[in-house]
Amino acid sequence: MHSEADPGAVFEEDFVRVLAIGAHPDDIELGCGGSLAAHRASGDEIALLVLTTGEQGPQAAASRVDEQHQAAEKLGATLIWGSFDDGDVPDGRPTVDLIQHVMGDVAPDVVYTHAPNDTHQDHRAAALATFGAARRASRILRYESPTTTTFSPSLFVDIERSLDRKVELICAHVSQVLKNGLVDVEAIRAQARYYGFKARVHYAEGFETERFLWDLEAGRDGPERLAMDLRDVDELDIAVLR
Ligand SMILES: [Zn+2]
Repeated sequence: MHSEADPGAVFEEDFVRVLAIGAHPDDIELGCGGSLAAHRASGDEIALLVLTTGEQGPQAAASRVDEQHQAAEKLGATLIWGSFDDGDVPDGRPTVDLIQHVMGDVAPDVVYTHAPNDTHQDHRAAALATFGAARRASRILRYESPTTTTFSPSLFVDIERSLDRKVELICAHVSQVLKNGLVDVEAIRAQARYYGFKARVHYAEGFETERFLWDLEAGRDGPERLAMDLRDVDELDIAVLR
């Protein structure tokens, strides 16, 4: 593994920390690029872990590496590479150990990864290894790929303001967009519209939830507001008791 920067030094502020995991360059942008753009617009910190350089794809690895760097830069994300061979990502210990190591550095509040039902063995392996490595994480969302088979999303992210950004990120992967029929910008917009329709908004990304903690008490205005609310409750209880 090598990384653009020391991931341990990246997240110094109290933002939501996001880790998105993909087997190949462009998987993450296709699966959750709109949500990541929305995270970034909210000031959240994003790390991308790409397990292989995608050297078996329609374009040589060198250009796919360069394209993934450009996409990460456009997104404002830290890029971390795994060193597995394209087509040969293990679903067991080596991948689990790598993801655990990255999670230790990034300390993500939410993890995005592949959905497990997929015709590509690397996507299945990335999903299974993430579930093992993130077994103590509170929020794991599974995203869809063009090769996903069965997928039943129940959590949707409104990407009306981020859809164009998602398309920009995907278009950074020029070799895939131009030469691979699986990357189709019209289909990406149509999918966002369809999931938006299901979610009662205009455009959305859909996710399956491996696990999702809804932290209502710490949400909105944060722990200080919560402490104030609890004081109010105490005073109310005392008043009622009297
Ligand atoms: Zn892939």
